[in-house]
Amino acid sequence: MKDKVFSNIVKRLAEVKKLENLTVKEIRLLSTPKRIAYTKLKIGKKTYPAWRILFSDALGPGKGGIRFHPGVCQDEVKSLSFWMTLKNSLAGLPYGGAKGGVQFDPRQASDKELQQVSRKFIDAFYKYLGQDKDIPAPDVYTNSQIMAWMLDEYEKKVGYHQPGMITGKPLDLQGCVLRGDATAKGAFIITKAMLKKFKLNKKKLKVAVQGFGNAGLFMSQMLAKDGFRVVAVSDSKGGIYSKTGLNIKKVIAIKKKQGSVTKHKQGQVVTNAQLLELPVDILVLAALENQVTKDNAKDVKAKYIVEVANGPTTYDADQILFKKGTMVVPDILANSGGVTVSYFEWAQNRTGNILDKDYLAKLLETKMLSSWNKMMTVYREHDKKIDLRASAYIIAIRRILSAERLRGNL
Ligand code: GLU
Repeated sequence: MKDKVFSNIVKRLAEVKKLENLTVKEIRLLSTPKRIAYTKLKIGKKTYPAWRILFSDALGPGKGGIRFHPGVCQDEVKSLSFWMTLKNSLAGLPYGGAKGGVQFDPRQASDKELQQVSRKFIDAFYKYLGQDKDIPAPDVYTNSQIMAWMLDEYEKKVGYHQPGMITGKPLDLQGCVLRGDATAKGAFIITKAMLKKFKLNKKKLKVAVQGFGNAGLFMSQMLAKDGFRVVAVSDSKGGIYSKTGLNIKKVIAIKKKQGSVTKHKQGQVVTNAQLLELPVDILVLAALENQVTKDNAKDVKAKYIVEVANGPTTYDADQILFKKGTMVVPDILANSGGVTVSYFEWAQNRTGNILDKDYLAKLLETKMLSSWNKMMTVYREHDKKIDLRASAYIIAIRRILSAERLRGNL
């Protein structure tokens, strides 16, 4: 399954090529990563394949997280770095796109080993990183502590302080007060914009959330707090479903105590696959890529999908959903709150100014809504004959190609 992620991107680009009359040269530029750095991290007797891929630096230094997961492979990191390129462009940030990954399961590792892998990653790739080169951040199964070890290792290597070389840091190492739940915050802002646009009443909506990591957990919490009925949530071990709605506070407490939402007594246990097909109005995808595919898209009941994960819907699934009239709010918009706040952190680190929390929260909202409006404008211009993903891709790609043209690369 995993080795097919980038092929979805190629199909999408072919569609945008037609819509925007792009040349073969432009498509080649858009679909070729600028640098693939690969190594094997050796920790004792074990080795872990690791990548840092800079997909594009046309708009600025590379930017994107580092994923620790046993399923990480080159095709996945390459796809994730492509999506970062588009995400950063759509969000209007001064960044290209990049991503890193280690094929390693931190859930099975001791703290000592986790720290070793984090430091080795920097030892292997530090030459490619820096606040003006390529700036990592957290992603699946990485967090602020890992960013702290990575910053420390980087600063030891280069011999000076440079907090702006990485984002998603703890507050005491010049992190940003908003970063912890920023991805969910951004997705929540977009969900509310969607409700307004399609005149939906939150009190009447049932929501299912797939994934209960940083993004999914906070998103469920925000939705529940705001009066949405969250009827199902899941983590990698499975999900829990209650028609009448879950008590998210309790689910979070169980997850923290017992390691999985499935341990929650209320409701019925479902698989991750079953959760996708539940009778809900909004499906929030906050786990991994390739979840809604050509095999299950027709069985998805939700009329609205919000992609908080990167790449959770395949190209073929998109076609089926579009025909059914399902609105898919694409990842490169819905989950861009994380990297937008990373940008605030980076900018603070560079200027030495600490900006007010309320000001930053407002700025995040303004930026998210501005991207939403841009996407909806293109959607309308095309008489709603293309989906939201194509609309978002068009805006992102126009800006990247403009930068390439101005640089003389086209
Ligand atoms: N990993 C997050 C993403 O996929 C955040 C990246 C960042 O902050 O650079 O968007």
